Amino acid sequence: MRILVTGGAGFLGSHLCERLLDAGNEVICLDNFFTGRKRNIAHLMDNPYFELVRHDVIDPFKFEVDRIYNLACPASPPHYQYNAIKTIKTSVMGAINCLGLAKRTRARVFQASTSEVYGDPAEHPQRESYWGNVNPIGIRACYDEGKRCAETLFFDYHRQNGVDIRVVRIFNTYGPRMLPDDGRVVSNFIVQALRGEDLTIYGDGTQTRSFCYVDDLVSGFIRLMEHPSLTGPVNIGNPGEFTMLELAELVIKKVGGPSKITHMALPGDDPKQRRPDISLAQKELGWNPTVSLEDGLDPTIDYFRKLLTEA
Ligand code: NAD
Ligand code: UDP
Repeated sequence: MRILVTGGAGFLGSHLCERLLDAGNEVICLDNFFTGRKRNIAHLMDNPYFELVRHDVIDPFKFEVDRIYNLACPASPPHYQYNAIKTIKTSVMGAINCLGLAKRTRARVFQASTSEVYGDPAEHPQRESYWGNVNPIGIRACYDEGKRCAETLFFDYHRQNGVDIRVVRIFNTYGPRMLPDDGRVVSNFIVQALRGEDLTIYGDGTQTRSFCYVDDLVSGFIRLMEHPSLTGPVNIGNPGEFTMLELAELVIKKVGGPSKITHMALPGDDPKQRRPDISLAQKELGWNPTVSLEDGLDPTIDYFRKLLTEA
C-alpha cells in the first residue's frame, strides 16, 4: 500500500514509518519539522519506498494513497503551549485536510488522538465511553480541545460522508527519539539523571501516569488501522500506573550518579491520575503491551546517553 504519515519525522511518526516500510509498504512522510527532526528519519532516506515532504498540515495537500495516519501535532505541553493558536489550528485544520483527502481518494484515515481528551478524569481507569473533564479555557485546552474537535470531525465525516476512520487515544508513550528538551517527564528525568542534575518533580509527585513503550504503541496503531471495521475510539497504552516519585526513583536507580529529587510548581490543569482501560483493544485487536517500564527505560536511557555524548 501507499501510506501517508503526517508528523512522520516526529518521535512516534518515525517509528511508524520504519515499521510500515519494513512491512513492504510505500511511505510518504509529511512534516513541517516543528518538533520533528531529519535525524529521526535519516536512516530511511535511501529507501526507494520512502519519500519526505516538507509541508504544514494546516495547508491543503493532495496525494494518491490507500492509508493516512494523522500524527502531525506537537505533543509535549511546553511545545504545544509555545504557540497555542497554531496548535489548535494544526489539530483542527490538519484533521479537515486529512479527512478531505480521505473522502476524495477513499483512503482509510487514522487519527492520533490522546488520553488528554479525558482531561483531569473523574473516572478511573478511563474507558472509551468516558466523556472527560476538560477545562475549555485553560492552558492545556489548545491541545485537549483541538484533539476533541478532531475526533468530532472524524466521526462527522464518517457519519455524513462514509469516510473510513480509525481513532486511537494514546496514553503517555516514551522511547528512543524523544527530544531531549521535549519537556515530557520521561525524557526530562533521564536527561537530568545523565547530566547528574536533580530530577524536577512538579508538585508533590503523587500524580500518576501510565507509560507505554513506543514499539508496543506502534503495533497497536497498525492493528487498529488494519482492523476491518472498528472505528474506535480505542485506548492504547500500558495500564501499569506509576507516581512521578516512583518514576524518578526508578530512573535514578537505573542511571546511577549523584542526582536527587527537587520539587517545582505544578503546572495549571495537570491531571492527577491517568490509567487506560484497555479491554477494548485486548478484545477487538488482540493487543496487549509487552514491554514493562523497567525494560523500556533501558533502550531509552541508552539512546539519550549516546545523544548527549555526541552533542
Ligand atoms: P512529536 O512532537 O515528536 O511529533 C509530532 C510531529 O508532527 C513532529 O514531527 C512535528 O514536526 C510534526 N508537526 C507538528 N505540527 C505540524 C504541522 N502543522 N504540519 C506538519 N507537521 C507538524 O510528538 P509525538 O509524541 O511523536 O506525537 C505524535 C502524535 O501522537 C501527536 O499527534 C500527538 O498528539 C499524539 N500523542 C502522542 C502521545 C505521546 O505520549 N507521545 C500521547 C498522546 C497523543
Ligand atoms: N512532570 C514532572 N517533571 C517534569 C516533567 C513533567 O513532574 O520534569 C510531571 C507533569 O507535571 C505531569 C507528569 O509529569 O504530572 C507527566 O507530564 P508529561 O508532560 O510527560 O505528560 P502529560 O502531563 O501530558 O501526561
